[in-house]
Amino acid sequence: MSAQRSLATPYRTHTCGELRADDAGAGAKLAGWVHRRRDYGKLIFIDLRDRHGITQVVIDAADAPEAHATASRLRSEFVVAFDGEVALRQPGTENAKLATGAVELQARSVRILNEAKTPPFYVNDPDAPIDESLRLKYRYLDIRREQMARRLVLRSELVQAIRRVHHDNGFVEVETPNLIKSTPEGARDFIVPSRLQPGTVYALPQSPQQLKQLLMVAGIDRYFQIARCFRDEDMRGDRQPEFTQLDLEMSFVDEDAVRGFIERMIIEVTQATTPERPIRDIPFPVFEYEDAMERYGSDKPDIRFAMELFDLAPALAGADGAPSSGFRVFDETLAAGNRVKGITAPGMGGATRREIDDLTETAKRFGAKGLVHLSVQAGGELHGPIAKFLSADTQAAIREHARAGEGDLILVVADGAETANDVLGRLRVELGARLGLADPDELAYCWVHHFPMYKWDAEGHRWDATHNPFSGVVPEDEVLLTTTSGDLDVRDPGDPAGRAKAMQYDVALNGWELGGGSVRIWDPVLLARSFNLQGYTREQMRERFGAILDAFEYGAPPHGGIALGIDRWAALLSYQTNIREVMAFPKTQSGSDLMLEAPSAPEANQYEDLGLRFVGVPERR
Ligand code: ASP
Repeated sequence: MSAQRSLATPYRTHTCGELRADDAGAGAKLAGWVHRRRDYGKLIFIDLRDRHGITQVVIDAADAPEAHATASRLRSEFVVAFDGEVALRQPGTENAKLATGAVELQARSVRILNEAKTPPFYVNDPDAPIDESLRLKYRYLDIRREQMARRLVLRSELVQAIRRVHHDNGFVEVETPNLIKSTPEGARDFIVPSRLQPGTVYALPQSPQQLKQLLMVAGIDRYFQIARCFRDEDMRGDRQPEFTQLDLEMSFVDEDAVRGFIERMIIEVTQATTPERPIRDIPFPVFEYEDAMERYGSDKPDIRFAMELFDLAPALAGADGAPSSGFRVFDETLAAGNRVKGITAPGMGGATRREIDDLTETAKRFGAKGLVHLSVQAGGELHGPIAKFLSADTQAAIREHARAGEGDLILVVADGAETANDVLGRLRVELGARLGLADPDELAYCWVHHFPMYKWDAEGHRWDATHNPFSGVVPEDEVLLTTTSGDLDVRDPGDPAGRAKAMQYDVALNGWELGGGSVRIWDPVLLARSFNLQGYTREQMRERFGAILDAFEYGAPPHGGIALGIDRWAALLSYQTNIREVMAFPKTQSGSDLMLEAPSAPEANQYEDLGLRFVGVPERR
């Protein structure tokens, strides 16, 4: 309350969300926007709105004829200031839905501060469907809507809590520059031409990765930043060309120390920001990357519900261990070293032909060649197009591995491990949503770690870092990087480095990747070796990572860190899946700011100053 009192200004004594029954009898001034006007002739009611709430104002022609005359001119979204007296509402007319619903302001005078055109959509109807491009073009009106304003406030509280917890834990907030040199995070750079050095460009940071590592070499010890990052990539639903990360780095740490701090920080921040939402597991479950893929088909599992993937190989093997289910596709898949895996959709055994076709189509869209379905009948018999190939014993074994009971639907994919896991993982999420298996209030954080360091890129003939190019290798696998060919420029797909696991950890929340980080390589020789595996020649390394390679020659402490997506976090805490809903001024799918009309052509003199000429768009690769 005291915080709200301090919001008094010459225009208002209270905000529109502040007056209560206790205030009855007092004088008050309110200012805000006309949310709704109801005109009953001698009595006019105005719902006056600001971002704090709504207060009913009543203007009575008998008491305040001048104010009444002015009030009859008021229209939606006019900006007005009222002076009057707070009164209890007539018994029976209180509005329990409004925090101020016990009272109304009986106006003595009204001042129109500004008029407003009729808005292009209903600002005062939370349920009105509004085309998103209209919302983005008139974002300042969209933000007047209660839900949008509330989400921006939640985001502000989130960032405030993050700052507090970091300061309490000895972190130094450091701002790193936005005009830098490329720091790779797997996307294209946005570049900014330099006027002072014609023919050269700055890159906007994809993340402050190299700078934060340099801060560790500088001895800052614990750094954090609410950092804006820029990545030029084709946008999906939850991507934006610029977005905000909580970026941090710590010195003299191992993986447990970093994860330990992050976990405590996440819990504290969550409880400060959304105390009403339960955190599912504390401590957070930790999955090996391989296990997460096996069990959930995802490296960002939604663990609010089970429906885990199962492996049918043991159920399909004969006494000699060889696949002999009788269904050729399964047996051949297994014989070729591939996988037959599935999930059980509880209670979906009665799915219609159409629902099954729909699931099959979905699985194909996800990359499967097909989807086998078996429904469990009363007595345990399996039904479905392939059931006739399966003996009673095999059926029983399948049921057991699928942990399926009467009325359930077993869905099976036979394919390479990667495809089988991925398709089933995505189907699992889809079915989980369809069947309402997850508690929408619950916040299920979990860790996934020990990702493979590299993945062979046959086209580029190199080992791409699966995550961060600066990630360290787990101590027991270091030998896989150091004992291989002494000749740095030799790369081959059989390199033992391909088996190395990274000290890389991701934190997931309700099936979304919230963030990721790693303990870094801090040994300059090992770092050069790792970059080399990733396909950089010595010259390219110097060119791209010269600063960090040099710095590491001057004493780099062991260090590690992480970055969490603030937009994603704020979205999930406010029950949204699209980060645009928690960004004040986001861009569209094609990267446009519809309100400011950006991007736009440069001014003629800008071309000149920068020595640029537009030569047309190259054909898109
Ligand atoms: N720089 C990484 C990223 O942006 C995070 C980290 O490893 O700290 O994803």
